[in-house]
Amino acid sequence: MQLSELKNLKIAVVGAGYGGAAAAKALSLLGADVNVYEQASRIGEVGAGIGLRPSTMNRFREWGIFDEIAKVSSPSEYFEILTPTGEPIMKEEWPASGEQTHTHLIHRGDFIDALLGVLPEDMVHLGHKLEKIQDKGGSSVLTFANGVSVEADLVVGGDGIKSVVRRELFDDRGPVFSGEHAYRTVISTDDAYGMVVDDNLRMYIGRGTKIYLLPLRHRDQVSFDITALCPDSTWAPEVTKDDLLATVEGFDERLVNITRDLDMDTVNVRAVYDIDPVGIWHTDSVVLVGDAAHSMLHHQGQGANSAIEDAGALADALREADSVKEALALFQATRKPVTDALQRISRQGWTEEEIHEVFPGQKPAAAATKE
Ligand SMILES: Cc1cc2nc3c(=O)[nH]c(=O)nc-3n(C[C@H](O)[C@H](O)[C@H](O)COP(=O)(O)OP(=O)(O)OC[C@H]3O[C@@H](n4cnc5c(N)ncnc54)[C@H](O)[C@@H]3O)c2cc1C
Repeated sequence: MQLSELKNLKIAVVGAGYGGAAAAKALSLLGADVNVYEQASRIGEVGAGIGLRPSTMNRFREWGIFDEIAKVSSPSEYFEILTPTGEPIMKEEWPASGEQTHTHLIHRGDFIDALLGVLPEDMVHLGHKLEKIQDKGGSSVLTFANGVSVEADLVVGGDGIKSVVRRELFDDRGPVFSGEHAYRTVISTDDAYGMVVDDNLRMYIGRGTKIYLLPLRHRDQVSFDITALCPDSTWAPEVTKDDLLATVEGFDERLVNITRDLDMDTVNVRAVYDIDPVGIWHTDSVVLVGDAAHSMLHHQGQGANSAIEDAGALADALREADSVKEALALFQATRKPVTDALQRISRQGWTEEEIHEVFPGQKPAAAATKE
């Protein structure tokens, strides 16, 4: 689209999570008139870490915000999978993207603060919970619970796994329970019993439990996450320290000790859900991004990364296509095959065959020694 057309484009982004905030940044760089509507009255994120992949970091470079993200994150060279007692199963360097070879490990709270911090303050409207969306073809009308109503040429639905935009216009099936719980917190490196030896992400896996140790060196902390099988599908279930200890039984004594020392008030407990692939992500003037479009399980650590990639691809499509309608079709054609695959792979566990599919060419150490 021509610069003059993009400048006249009124865009409403629903949701100020990673997907919404990144879309707001990428689309405002096109010159469009962007506003973000967020249901919460203040922004907060779970106390836990995630990894921002090289391709995600490249998008930040393109948007001129690499330094803002880099200064609150630590670069990591590789990802390692180990048995519960620490025998290596496999080790993989992060897939490089251009010159960017490192994944940046970041606290979720720092990440959203950094992303929102690069947007003009008056772009984000808190306390706006979307209730209804009326698609009129070339534009759409959003109605919020506080009585405000706005019309926009393009609506970007970045409203997460329980998306109202998705439910109203695209797919009214709800989230799907994975049969797992995630217990997430951040602890001081000093309290990690010497298990943090460098800046790399490690996952210990066995008996249906996965323990992730994600170092946040710049904070002298480590994100300690347990994902464990549990049939209780309550969204925010109540669990005790003893429940957590039962999930880590048989793991390296130091991991058991970390679990025993946890302050349960700091542990975020959540049943883990994703969604089935959504057939169509867009109309002529509304499009889904991030978890609203393709929420996936966290086993590949790709949900937030995909939300950022969506924002970049949506801006690219608007620049390349002749109209918003064409751009939304191009966006879906570019992104949906990638996220369909990630949704599918993320539902798999970590058996030998599955590791081969996720990391082609990689030979799990256990299999290699059998030959
Ligand atoms: C246990 C766990 C571990 C994870 N680990 C990783 C990882 O290591 N790496 C990774 O890349 N991803 C990870 N993810 C996935 C990642 O958290 C999500 O993919 C990411 O948060 C999606 O961002 P989003 O902006 O699309 O949605 P969200 O972060 O859910 O943001 C949606 C926003 O929309 C707002 N909203 C919702 N409804 C409305 C409404 N009606 N009106 C207005 N606003 C609304 C919400 O308040 C929220 O601010 C993990 C997820 C889980 C559960």
